[in-house]
Amino acid sequence: MKAVVVNPNNKTNVEVIEKEIRPLQSGEALVDIEYCGVCHTDLHVAAGDFGNVEGRILGHEGIGVISKVADDVTSLKIGDRVSVAWMFESCGMCEYCTTGRETFCRNVKNAGYSIDGGMAEQCIVTADYAVKVPEGLDPAQASSITCAGVTTYKAIKVADIKPSQWIVIYGCGGLGNLAIQYAKHVFNAKVIAVDINEDKLALAKEIGADMTINPNTQGDADIIIQQVGGAHSAVVTAVSKTAFNSAVNAVRACGKVIAVGLPSETMDLSIPRLVLDGIEVVGSLVGTRKDLEEAFQFGAEGKVVPVVQTRCLHEVQDIFEEMEQGKIQGRMVIDFNQHKCNS
Ligand SMILES: [Zn+2]
Ligand SMILES: [Zn+2]
Repeated sequence: MKAVVVNPNNKTNVEVIEKEIRPLQSGEALVDIEYCGVCHTDLHVAAGDFGNVEGRILGHEGIGVISKVADDVTSLKIGDRVSVAWMFESCGMCEYCTTGRETFCRNVKNAGYSIDGGMAEQCIVTADYAVKVPEGLDPAQASSITCAGVTTYKAIKVADIKPSQWIVIYGCGGLGNLAIQYAKHVFNAKVIAVDINEDKLALAKEIGADMTINPNTQGDADIIIQQVGGAHSAVVTAVSKTAFNSAVNAVRACGKVIAVGLPSETMDLSIPRLVLDGIEVVGSLVGTRKDLEEAFQFGAEGKVVPVVQTRCLHEVQDIFEEMEQGKIQGRMVIDFNQHKCNS
């Protein structure tokens, strides 16, 4: 089978190779991949930012159909459509796994990083951990929900937002775009979208944001305090410490700031602000199997529509390069059905 693997000697740190898939072991299932999205996390993994994983098959936004299951597998059957997510498998027994917090398991396996992922014609999954894709959800769109969708859906759950309350979404790109849709159309919140890019703000408005703010031309936190008395919570998908610092000032007393973006910086946190106003700052990491199941369902119901663009496998080097240079809007998804094209 063809697979996209990490190769630090290549310009974009990736290459397409021919690889033999190993036989299934107990509890496993084989997925014939249809689509796999390319995420910024893949760029980090390929660049060795989380350690050297040369030869690893990338991909944690894989969608495909089960073509074989091990004899003891009962949770999946041939023909089921499933996902290959970053949260690939956890131990199932520790204090995190047994209390609904499996993404924080200390022995978690991450697809496309600590175990071979979905950016290949086939992928072996742990059957009990592969979340099924519901009927009626476009598989290319499902690919985007497998990572960006579930991550933002979970963050809004953590924010504990109630209908008609105000939530600010910092950053309206691949993650923020879905955060706005979940906040607005699933949680019935009032949404303020903040981004320094006018095109992204226009799109935010189109998909339902009640208010948009460009912090380059307006003071975001001040306006939010003035106009709505401060937001009840903020979800920060932006990769800049400025956004994190603003978010703390944009929420009202007892507000919650949910960190999702991963800038390699520290944020400033005023301790009096934290104590006197009871502000909470919480990190949120992808989502559990249950979260993904729910995030998929809202996609299938048409409440959330990811913007995706499909590309052919032979273009993978170009995709990585374009993403590195920030040339890409929306989500790039490799179409494995199409790879047999003759170019
Ligand atoms: Zn991702
Ligand atoms: Zn565990």
